Amino acid sequence: MVKSRIQNVYENVREALERVTDDAGFEALELMHAVCGLTRQDLLMGRDISLSDGQQKKLDELVRRRLDHEPLQYLLGEWDFFGRTFSVGEGVLIPRGDTEPLVEACLELIKRKHAPRILDLCTGSGCIGITLALERPDAEVWAVEKSPQAFSYFQKNNQSFGSPIRGILGDALNPALISGNFDLIVSNPPYLTRSEMDALQPEVTREPAMALYGQDDGLYFYKEFCKIYPQRLNPGGALAFEIGDGQQSAVCGFLTESGMISICQKHDLHGIIRVITARNKLSGQETPAET
Ligand code: GLN
Repeated sequence: MVKSRIQNVYENVREALERVTDDAGFEALELMHAVCGLTRQDLLMGRDISLSDGQQKKLDELVRRRLDHEPLQYLLGEWDFFGRTFSVGEGVLIPRGDTEPLVEACLELIKRKHAPRILDLCTGSGCIGITLALERPDAEVWAVEKSPQAFSYFQKNNQSFGSPIRGILGDALNPALISGNFDLIVSNPPYLTRSEMDALQPEVTREPAMALYGQDDGLYFYKEFCKIYPQRLNPGGALAFEIGDGQQSAVCGFLTESGMISICQKHDLHGIIRVITARNKLSGQETPAET
């Protein structure tokens, strides 16, 4: 069968991208879809789609940047999380599928609470807080982000989803930023260790170190959050953290020391313990009273 011109272009892009990714076919299609709307169906059907000179130039530029290890998600300017598309780009952490179990755990924690008040610390693109607000329209959700660059992506996403949550540009370690108590405080803070930072894939080095690095042992934010935020929970309220590979016993230790109970762990799609949740006591009682 004679290959259409677009199939040849696709093959060339795929071959070039093999130098930087194991998923070259997928990435080639994503880039070409962004440039000229090409779909897998078009390729399979041998449909020809002509590329204008401008589109060819744009495609060449994207391939060049990808070969220079820019993350695919930044080149596309968007990425999906929990079934919705978020704007991303330089300066903001890319939403990861590994974070979806954290959102599921949060939804479970608040499922019996009407109109829960939720705080998302280190929100980045806003993917956790915005998703929770959209999944639970009765919730009042607040989000804090320190980086102005990341915050601009948060604002863009929040607006494009109809501004479901309230954002604050500030330091998550400053508890005075927002008043009142919460039913759920969630965070995917920076948690990589010094040695993990030294061994990052080139693509990940393009993401903000500020969103990745959790000090030498990766545990800095959990330690600090466990000092500050248990006091900011309503009775029976919960904390939920994403954690790095192997951090569960340390983080469980901080939670126990701070008086939290009902500590639970959850795996990500790769079988790594990725989520830790805990509740505070109900009005000073040791165990939640069943009603
Ligand atoms: N999951 C990210 C990574 O492995 C780290 C995100 C974070 O530090 N919160 O690159």
